[in-house]
Amino acid sequence: MVSTLNLVSYSNWVCPKCKGILKVEGRQYSCEPCELRFSEKYGIPDFRLNNYDSENQLNLAEEYLKLWDKLTYEDMVRMRFSGLRQRALAAGKNPCDPKMWDLDEQAHLASYRTRGKYHSHILKHFLRRSDQAEHSKRLIDVGCGWGRDLLHLAGLGDEVIGVDVSTYSLLMTKKLLQENGVTNVTLVLAEGQFLPVPSQCIDGINCSATIEHFPLPGDFLRECSRCMREPGWVFLYYPNRYSALPETHTGIWGLGFRSEKQQKKVVRKRIGSEWNVTLFSRRSFFCLLGSTCEYKSVRITGIPDGIEEFLYSSKFAKMFPRLARVPKVVLPIIRVMPGLDRLISFFAPVHFVLIRW
Ligand SMILES: [Zn+2]
Repeated sequence: MVSTLNLVSYSNWVCPKCKGILKVEGRQYSCEPCELRFSEKYGIPDFRLNNYDSENQLNLAEEYLKLWDKLTYEDMVRMRFSGLRQRALAAGKNPCDPKMWDLDEQAHLASYRTRGKYHSHILKHFLRRSDQAEHSKRLIDVGCGWGRDLLHLAGLGDEVIGVDVSTYSLLMTKKLLQENGVTNVTLVLAEGQFLPVPSQCIDGINCSATIEHFPLPGDFLRECSRCMREPGWVFLYYPNRYSALPETHTGIWGLGFRSEKQQKKVVRKRIGSEWNVTLFSRRSFFCLLGSTCEYKSVRITGIPDGIEEFLYSSKFAKMFPRLARVPKVVLPIIRVMPGLDRLISFFAPVHFVLIRW
């Protein structure tokens, strides 16, 4: 069972650190110049330079593997949330109301099929607008998490690589892809700033709500630029610093309007946890990109083409009935007025970005 965990085998891995060719012996990979050795974890190549799996997460991964044939993806989601709930209660901690875990679980179960679908739908609109081919040879999803985007991205590339630092998450992704009969995806444990792929071999990189978690987001963009084969693209989104809605990770209103130092203080006080998220604005993202790498063009907007289908979908309409009542003709009008697009994007909850090489 373990040996079948990878769906296809991508054999051109390079050393994530020095990008040298790796010597492969069975399931062992070694880099001569930097004397690093890599192996597989539960059948997934593991090229991480740091460890990101907590003990609880490894226990969850073991449980998934033990019950692999009996579990469905939805079972795995439930197990994940019930584990979180139990641990919060056992530790006498109440960072959020434990009842919230139920809500999170239900929200995830309700949305995992639709949100990934809308994401790839918006991506297609971006590519069309930039005269970029919709179908690519090789794509990477960096920070693929539980596979919500990957499931739909698989249809946009001949060969798709799902990258994440979390082992149990990749096991969930694996299950999701298997259940849906997806066979062109390779999963690999690796860090976004240290991708184990050769230079100039990737046609498109997707990175959903992950860049704000990198300790050095610039290093990730530089790495994207290295992997990119022209005419390639990176599609990503991040929570907007000046969002008119509460900050997505913490639920705190107006967090982005404070300085970075104050953000840390407020989060520690209100949530009781460390704050290691970089909140980007349109301007700060643009500056970071410009100081990091050369690229052909970039488009950043809070109201991309194709978002209508998501806004007016029944699930979203249930969550935000007022927004869904805005007449459909409004968004196309806003888009043809550059000043208005900028203004609304300034307060939009997330920014979608397409960078082209
Ligand atoms: Zn090396």
